[in-house]
Parts: sequence; C-alpha cells; structure tokens
Amino acid sequence: MKALIDKKKCTVCGVCSDACPAGAIELSEDHVEISDDCTLCGICVDTCEFGALSLPKAGTGPADDLESYRGIWVYAEWREGEVHRVSHELLSAGRKLADKRGVELCAVLLGSGLQASMSQELISYGADTVFVVDRPELAHFSDEIYSKIVVELIRRKKPEILLAGATSTGRSFIPRVAASLKTGLTADCTELDMSDEGLLLQTRPAFGGNIMATIVCPNRRPQMATVRPKVMKPVKRDGRQGRIESVSLPEECFAGRIEVLEVIPEKDQTARLTEADVIVSGGRGLRKGENFSLIEELAGLVNGAVGASRGAVEEGWIPPSHQVGQTGRTVAPTLYMAVGIAGAIQHLVGMQGSQVIVAVNKDPHAPIFDVATYGVVADLFDFVPAFVKRIRRERGEGA
Ligand SMILES: Cc1cc2nc3c(=O)[nH]c(=O)nc-3n(C[C@H](O)[C@H](O)[C@H](O)COP(=O)(O)OP(=O)(O)OC[C@H]3O[C@@H](n4cnc5c(N)ncnc54)[C@H](O)[C@@H]3O)c2cc1C
Repeated sequence: MKALIDKKKCTVCGVCSDACPAGAIELSEDHVEISDDCTLCGICVDTCEFGALSLPKAGTGPADDLESYRGIWVYAEWREGEVHRVSHELLSAGRKLADKRGVELCAVLLGSGLQASMSQELISYGADTVFVVDRPELAHFSDEIYSKIVVELIRRKKPEILLAGATSTGRSFIPRVAASLKTGLTADCTELDMSDEGLLLQTRPAFGGNIMATIVCPNRRPQMATVRPKVMKPVKRDGRQGRIESVSLPEECFAGRIEVLEVIPEKDQTARLTEADVIVSGGRGLRKGENFSLIEELAGLVNGAVGASRGAVEEGWIPPSHQVGQTGRTVAPTLYMAVGIAGAIQHLVGMQGSQVIVAVNKDPHAPIFDVATYGVVADLFDFVPAFVKRIRRERGEGA
C-alpha cells in the first residue's frame, strides 16, 4: 500500500516530493509517481494544499499472498569482526522454530570485507543458508541503507519470519523495515514460540512489566520481532553444513543520504555492563549516593561491573547507564549480586537470566529472594564491609 494521488487535482508543484522523508515521491514533467518506499506517514497529505493526496483505508483482512512466504530469517549482527552474541542466541532459538515448522533457517549478513569464517560461524549456530551482501558502502552501519537492503531481500525471497536483536542497531533499523513492508513488529521480546498454524508467538513484558503479553501477526508477512540479548541460550553445533549465498542487489540499494565522518568506540559503563561476567548492583537500600562506594569496592575486588536499580538511579546516586531492568539494560552475567534491591518485576526482567544470583536484603520477604540462588538476610552495611574484608583476607591482602 502507498499514498494515493488524484491526478486531476495535482499541479505537480513538487512540495510533497520535497517533504517526503522516505524519498518516495518522484516528479516528472507532467505527473507525480509514488514508489513502494512510501511508508504511509501522511506528511505529503498534510503538505498538499490542493488535496491531491490521500492515504488508503487500512485493510483489516489478511494479505492474499500469506502462503507464498516461507522460512525463518535472522539478521546477523556483528561488531569489530566478531559475530554479536545475540545472533548466536537468535539462530539457536530460530533453529527450534524452523524445525517445528519444517522450514529453512537463514541468516542475513551485511557488511564490507566480511570473512568467510563469520558465515561458517552462523551455520554452526543453526543457519541452513547465509545470505551475504558484501559491499564497501556497508562498512559502517546506516539505518537507511541497511533497511533498504533487508527490504529488498525480503521482497525477493519472502521469509515468513524475521528476527533481530533488540540492540541499538536492531532497534534502530528493524522498525523501518517493518514500516516499509507494512507488516507488524514486536519489539523487545523475551520469549518466542510457534503455533501449530505457523504463527510466531512473540512474548514480551507489557503494562510496566506486570504482565507478559503474547503477540501474533496473523495478517501480514513477514512476522517480525526484535529479541533482547541474553534471554535465549546460544547452542553451537560444530560440523554443521550450510550454504553461503552471495547476493547482488541493484545500485540504488546502496545509495544513502548519510555520510559517516568518524566512528568513536563506546567506552562507557553501559557496554561494560552488558558484557560483564560479574555485576554488583546497588539499590535504594544504600540510603545515599556516597554509599555506592561500598558497591564499587566490592565490584572492583571481583572484577565486576557496577549496576543499579531504577530506585538508585532516580535518587540521582548513579547515572542511568548503570540501570538494570525493563527500562535499563538486560544482563545475564555468571554472577549477579543485588544489594539493597527489593526485586520489583521491572528489575527482575533485566537480570533473572543470570546464572547465579546473590541477594542481600534486610527484609526476608523481599521479592528478590524469589529469584535468588543464595539469599543473605542482613543489613548491607554490616554484610558488605565484612564480605570485602573476608575476600581481602582470603587473598592475603591483609585488611
Ligand atoms: C514502567 C516502569 C519501568 C521500570 N523500570 C525499571 C528498571 O528498568 N529497573 C529497575 O530497577 N526498576 C524499574 N522500575 C522501578 C521498580 O518498580 C522499582 O520501583 C525499583 O526497582 C525499586 O528500586 P529498589 O529496589 O532499589 O528500591 P526499593 O523498592 O525502595 O527497595 C529497597 C530495598 O532495600 C532494602 N534495604 C533497605 N535498607 C537496607 C539495608 N540497610 N540493608 C539491606 N537491605 C536494605 C529494603 O528492604 C528494600 O527491599 C520501573 C518501574 C516502572 C513503572
């Protein structure tokens, strides 16, 4: 579907073409063409003073070519030459869905100077086929170009499902893909399954994390979901065989309006938090900002990152980049220590995938103990200094 033009009213003034953010309106000498890039945003309708443009009425019934879509795709994200862990997780989850549905699992790998070992790695995590688009224009991520390419690939090959990581990259360009294809997208899923009819069951926290909602997309294809990193387990199968297909696309797919001048690697704590093996998080139980030094000291001793509840962030004791939870980071370290954190559902959804959870709270009924592997019912101001002292003594550091 795209915007409709009434040629009798159109004066070919060009105002709509200048205003269109998708670059979907082309002018010729005597008429205006609207391309498939139209996202139905309606900006052209508002700018046309002659009332020549309108939006089609939204259809509620199913698209008539649903059956022609087949197969499950995973957008394979990578950084600095390494496949991102979320792609391993999605391929492992996608493998189960593809087996249940009896279809192929494919990975889509975009970039410049991609190594063959990356495709092989995607195969070992479950892909049957890897579609590779390797061009110099793809050296740096661009919303515009990456979405055009994925849209073109989908139009050609028609997968029934597309999965991507709910990372800053996935969150940034996957909605564009969904809008261009006029299909649905469920963002930030924490669970995926397949119904007997082939509907992707996309589960994510809703209403402030108080319920888990399962969402389906029955009338459009592909069914699209972004999935939070670290909520699914990666499963590697060495020796898997698969196919690598290098895809050529029209030149216009590689043309963009953004020029990357410089790339500055992220150095702040946020990146450290999601990659860390050990996280020590502090909550409102710390009573004041200065007391975060207790958390920092303990985290430093165990080579861990410092996390926080939103309670502590809202008090202004620590920057938001440290926040774990629904509106913060999702983490799944080997060890997560929650100190003076109550364990509200919005915090739990961000950390309950951790392998071992240690909770320190003076209230024995605090909900954090429901998910804790080890619970310490104690005043944190007694426990943490004693624990730090003990670690130092065990290491012969003499405190
Ligand atoms: C839409 C929405 C999104 C949200 N997103 C997030 C999110 O991403 N992350 C998040 O964390 N929260 C989030 N929240 C907020 C969440 O509901 C809680 O309010 C928040 O997690 C509470 O933080 P807290 O546990 O540190 O504070 P509190 O609820 O005040 O709990 C403090 C805990 O410390 C204990 N304590 C106090 N003193 C001591 C002591 N001396 N020794 C030991 N224990 C002590 C108390 O017993 C208590 O259990 C969100 C809320 C909403 C509505």
